Amino acid sequence: MVEDEEDTAKTLAKGLRQEFYAVDIAADGQAGIDKALSHLYDLLILDVRLPIKDGRVVCQELRQAGLQIPILMLTASSAVNDRIKGLDAGADDYLVKPFDIGELLARVRALLRRKPLLPDPTIRIDTLEINTRSRTVSRDGQAVRLTAKEYALLECLARDADTMLNRETISERVWDETYDPFSNLIEEYIKRLRKKIDFAGTKPLIRARRGEGYILTAKDFA
Ligand code: CA
Repeated sequence: MVEDEEDTAKTLAKGLRQEFYAVDIAADGQAGIDKALSHLYDLLILDVRLPIKDGRVVCQELRQAGLQIPILMLTASSAVNDRIKGLDAGADDYLVKPFDIGELLARVRALLRRKPLLPDPTIRIDTLEINTRSRTVSRDGQAVRLTAKEYALLECLARDADTMLNRETISERVWDETYDPFSNLIEEYIKRLRKKIDFAGTKPLIRARRGEGYILTAKDFA
């Protein structure tokens, strides 16, 4: 989220985090561009009136740089002209301030749905099945109940199955920059996931390599 008004940014981030989104905040246009181009985000919420570079310039520069993630613009004016300028700059949708947090969340959901989805929403690895649309998981035909964070971590590992993911990548995709790199949160969640996914009688899929990270794989792993 690129928003210079601290209170607004805090309130919106709180609402989004309650829905289990990980949110990073940039307070000016240039910081927004730098963050957007150096992190893997799913969506950008972009205020129009920003210091250093305004939202429309940010939007144009990001699109020119090839960034294709959905951009939701926040505008202070409902004037048609302003909305058109925003969309012309490459925004996917806009919201006129002041708005209800519920409306923002609905727009965010809609934009994320529009994201090119995997042709088949189900990821299958060994007897693990993850439906990324309904966010449901089963192992060996048994439904597995996961918390939102556990699910996010599992999907992150599964989308890059057979690839070793380091802690930095995992924390960036599943948590956000508020993640304390010295905490053992990832280890904790891996432990919980293993209990639920790799239960007795199944082939262990979630593997760790000390100092390197984690991998979800059905292949032989030494
Ligand atoms: Ca502003």
